Amino acid sequence: MRRRRAPSFFPSFPAVRQTPKSLVLSPMDIDYSQATEHDARDPLRRFRQEFLMPGRPEAPEVYFVGNSLGLQPLRTRTAIDRVLDQWHQSGVEGHFRGSPAWMEWPEQVSAQMAPIVGARTSEVVIMNTLTVNIHCMLATFYRPKGARNRVLIEDGAFPSDDQAIVSHMAMRGIAAEDALIRLQPDPTTQLLSTASIIEAIETHRDTLSLVFLPGVQYYTGQVLDIAAIADAAHARGILVGFDLAHAAGNIPLALHDWNVDFGCWCTYKYLNSGPGSLGACFIHDRHVTDEDLPRLAGWWGHEAKTRFQMDRDFVPEASAQGWQLSNPPILSLAAIASSLEVFHSAGGMQPLHAKSLLLNEYFRALLATHLPDDVRVLTPSQARTFGCQLSLQLNAPVETARRVFDCLGGQRVHVDWREPNVIRAAPVPLYNSFEDVAKFVDALKRATSEV
Ligand SMILES: *Cc1c(COP(=O)(O)O)cnc(C)c1O
Repeated sequence: MRRRRAPSFFPSFPAVRQTPKSLVLSPMDIDYSQATEHDARDPLRRFRQEFLMPGRPEAPEVYFVGNSLGLQPLRTRTAIDRVLDQWHQSGVEGHFRGSPAWMEWPEQVSAQMAPIVGARTSEVVIMNTLTVNIHCMLATFYRPKGARNRVLIEDGAFPSDDQAIVSHMAMRGIAAEDALIRLQPDPTTQLLSTASIIEAIETHRDTLSLVFLPGVQYYTGQVLDIAAIADAAHARGILVGFDLAHAAGNIPLALHDWNVDFGCWCTYKYLNSGPGSLGACFIHDRHVTDEDLPRLAGWWGHEAKTRFQMDRDFVPEASAQGWQLSNPPILSLAAIASSLEVFHSAGGMQPLHAKSLLLNEYFRALLATHLPDDVRVLTPSQARTFGCQLSLQLNAPVETARRVFDCLGGQRVHVDWREPNVIRAAPVPLYNSFEDVAKFVDALKRATSEV
């Protein structure tokens, strides 16, 4: 029997029994004037007002878990109310009446999503949830042929990703012990170098069918070189897909230009669309019109113009929309559409990423000054290898490290915990400030000195 650990997907916040006296900040600790200056110069600072921050308005809490569940945009409630009104006033005719009519939503929200991941509208579909989409994409893109039946993933893959692949192998009578290659990260840095990934592709070039890796590794925050990996796989006739759960809305992506075969992501992390909101897929244009590709089919993937003739023969829509199975939940699409409006009014991923780099640089500088011996940053620091998230490994015994984390929660600082001793903290450029970063480092300094 394997020992069961308490679930740790979502961060846990201990109840505050009393206001800790430590909430009174000592000006000796951190120079807040620097943060204030950065915030004053931040061209995106007004976007913080677009979000509901946890805590009382006069005492906002530090929310650094947008990599787990993004904050609620103010306009989401209005967007959802509008759908509820449409449902109230039009009933089923809401599918065809109103602006937009529900029938038009999948395509319209895909068009809003496309620039976020560097795709054409025809390459994006919003449907299901992430793990379900991994299954749908594997149904299409995992096509083992004889000895070429292996899949390369990373050893530290998110459990769902690993489990999805193992189950596809089992359904096809393929033994995962032989066919699933789990690439080990470097034992000291815990990172996956591009060279080691390409080397694995070369080593297994005759037996690999698919490479499936994260765009941003959820534990370390490392950004992988998607373009280089796609090129190396394609050079050997291997398909390549990415789990973009931690990449979409975090870093600029160019999925079309990078020739990625497929990608999947969720919209409740950096894309701020609410708990359990719909996921999305990218399917490269060179595949979307290939009607011979196997897929899990359903009536909503049938071409829109003849869908309601209710023919049994499946004629897929000639775009990523052709992978839809069911009619989509409009309330969730409304949340996604309203959240994406905020991204677009901020100018898209480039300006957001530019601010993210500054937040990151400031964050690292404060850590290096104030906590040089207590914290090791696992996230790499070379250009294009990191996004919003910093994974902080606490240099303390496991129990002490856990108490540091609990103490942060007591100071109303929201970050998350990964076994055995890692705190993930993600300043998000849309709604986090430099002051948040200063407050976090202040709280962490206090926590490490108190436990
Ligand atoms: C968040 C996340 C998931 C979660 O999957 P759901 O199906 O949305 O619950 C899966 N894989 C990765 C890499 C993730 O980061």
